[in-house]
Amino acid sequence: MFGFHLELRLKLNNNKCATIVVVRIVISAHFDIARPVMSIKMDNENLMGLVDNFAGVFVAYQTSRKTGTPVYFTNYEELEFDGAEDVAKSLDRDTLVIVVDATMDAENKTAYLGNAYGFSTEPLKKDFSDKITFKDGMFEETEDETIIYGGKYGLKTFYFGVPIPDPNAGIENPFPKPGAYHTTDNKVSLDAIDKASDVLTELIQWFSKNNKS
Ligand SMILES: [Zn+2]
Repeated sequence: MFGFHLELRLKLNNNKCATIVVVRIVISAHFDIARPVMSIKMDNENLMGLVDNFAGVFVAYQTSRKTGTPVYFTNYEELEFDGAEDVAKSLDRDTLVIVVDATMDAENKTAYLGNAYGFSTEPLKKDFSDKITFKDGMFEETEDETIIYGGKYGLKTFYFGVPIPDPNAGIENPFPKPGAYHTTDNKVSLDAIDKASDVLTELIQWFSKNNKS
């Protein structure tokens, strides 16, 4: 928790209880889509088609409604991260940016947390390891918006992954090769999206409320 020392007010009520307040949290979820995607379908059970990153967009929306956290829906993530660049420039230095995006590495847990910049995820593991797969260190670090917010602009940042199926799972030599995130006929259950939203809501509440230490 002390990783946030620059941005947090550490208020000692007595010798036992520390109150930690994160000054500002925002969510960033990219939405860019391009040809050949003509539409993305949702029925009462699943989101179907190019689910990266409508899955993340829906999690961002739901979490924001429950917590009041502002969301930036960013364009051009798949190109040069122009949207994240533009947002990053506008943010105060004391902002924690949660990049909500699709993942295939949640290992059967409800969500994934990785590419953490500027703080230690250790204190979170105690409360969230049953629901979140924590990936230590950097993973494909130049492939998502955390490289902009955390790497380039030095903001406290992490990647919150919403699990989507890997369409190439079980296929030994998939062709065309991976890039599976952009598979246009993928499918993710709305239940998985809802449950990931619940976990992100709890995470934000964790950052916002008194820490039991
Ligand atoms: Zn994505």
